[in-house]
Amino acid sequence: MNQKEKQKDSELMEKIVSLCKRRGIIYQGSEIYGGLAGTWDYGPLGLALKNNIKNLWWKKFVTDREDMYGVDAAILMNQNVWKATGHVGGFSDPLVECPKCKNRFREDHVEVSSKDGLRHCPKDDQILGLARQFNMMFKTSVGAIESDDSVSYLRPETAQGMFVNYKNIIDSFHPKLPFGMAQIGKAFRNEIAPRDFIFRSREFEQMEIEYLVKPVGWEDTFEYFRKEMLDWTKEIGLKEEHVHEVEISEADRAFYSKRTIDFEFDFPFGQSELYGLAYRTDYDLSRHSQSSGTDLIYLDEETTNPEERKLIPHCIEPSFGVDRTVLAVLSDAYTEDRMNDEVRAYLKFAPIVAPVKVAVFPLLKNKPVLVEKAREVFVHLKKEFGAVMFDDNGNVGKRYRRQDEIGTPFCVTVDFDTIEKDDTVTVRDRDTGTQERVAVKELIAYLKSKLN
Ligand code: ATP
Repeated sequence: MNQKEKQKDSELMEKIVSLCKRRGIIYQGSEIYGGLAGTWDYGPLGLALKNNIKNLWWKKFVTDREDMYGVDAAILMNQNVWKATGHVGGFSDPLVECPKCKNRFREDHVEVSSKDGLRHCPKDDQILGLARQFNMMFKTSVGAIESDDSVSYLRPETAQGMFVNYKNIIDSFHPKLPFGMAQIGKAFRNEIAPRDFIFRSREFEQMEIEYLVKPVGWEDTFEYFRKEMLDWTKEIGLKEEHVHEVEISEADRAFYSKRTIDFEFDFPFGQSELYGLAYRTDYDLSRHSQSSGTDLIYLDEETTNPEERKLIPHCIEPSFGVDRTVLAVLSDAYTEDRMNDEVRAYLKFAPIVAPVKVAVFPLLKNKPVLVEKAREVFVHLKKEFGAVMFDDNGNVGKRYRRQDEIGTPFCVTVDFDTIEKDDTVTVRDRDTGTQERVAVKELIAYLKSKLN
């Protein structure tokens, strides 16, 4: 990337951040107190966007299938969970500190200088000190008395909430292999350097699946989920050319993983991890079985071979960051063009993720007949689509700009012809600006066909 492109992309990021703040999509966490690094608050439209993404994901990967079991586990878990998985001992990043400005960085995020082969502070070029391991789990204490036994952690991933419920799911539902557990929820990591807006924060959300299989043939399931993950990126409107699959080498994989693919995305600040897909073998369930002393063996009644009857299932894990999805969707949707001799900035969301699907306007705010009819159309559409907005502020041109900025696919205007002539309204398309007259009685069918 040359200097000019870099500049353009950092401008793009600034534009997205400022649009998000201005239009109630995402705000800085605790803003009126000066903020809290690595935290972000979703406003009404950001929440709607995020919920659309989570609901679509849940539908695709859980409710549309017969082999997935959803759970919503507690964020606080027995500390032995994290001892068993190795997080207490090893969930750490290498931290380096600048001896002069005292800024701290993740060692692997600082480039090695071609001059002397050492890492220099990106802020003031001082040579950075030796790295020390910094555990990223937020430690807390449960109950009124603090002791070694009261230690707990805010979970750094949703995955373990599923593994510890494996036996419950087996006992309640008796699923046959292969089957999966799925969860959407918050995760917390005390990142050394949170950065790039919601890309790397200290509190974020994940959507994860632990798909349990017999060890023989795991490759097919891995391949199946690889395709499902790619399909998902298309379904939410990410541009195919911006999604890259990166095979992680054995040296860079977690020691228990036999194969990992990262799905990277061209964010405005460069290509970085969006999702991960890993074959985790039987590592998690075996560790929990040993550490808890609970038998987590699966009895395969379909085989007569006594050696294959008892097994600890192996796991394929597709892992999705919710906030990174929101950022990817926002950065691919952000578009600038010229319309009616004006530059306009708008969010070209795929309709399924758009926080507002349709906006309804009366042509003039001060004409009660128009307002009354527009309210009637608004209520009619809201019953069907839910996310419908009413706007009568300023002139129609300004209302279009406002809706374009938040990515509303269609605007419906009620004018005098609606009332005096033929009960039709103007439907204006966000991307092309074209307008069509549609009969009110056909409006729902018309919009439905366009929104799907
Ligand atoms: P990175 O290398 O970027 O720190 P990771 O490999 O540690 O990420 P995983 O442990 O695989 O991430 O977590 C699964 C998913 O959770 C990631 O693909 C990402 O979408 C999301 N995620 C992880 N850390 C963060 C974070 N600090 N902020 C936002 N999302 C995150």
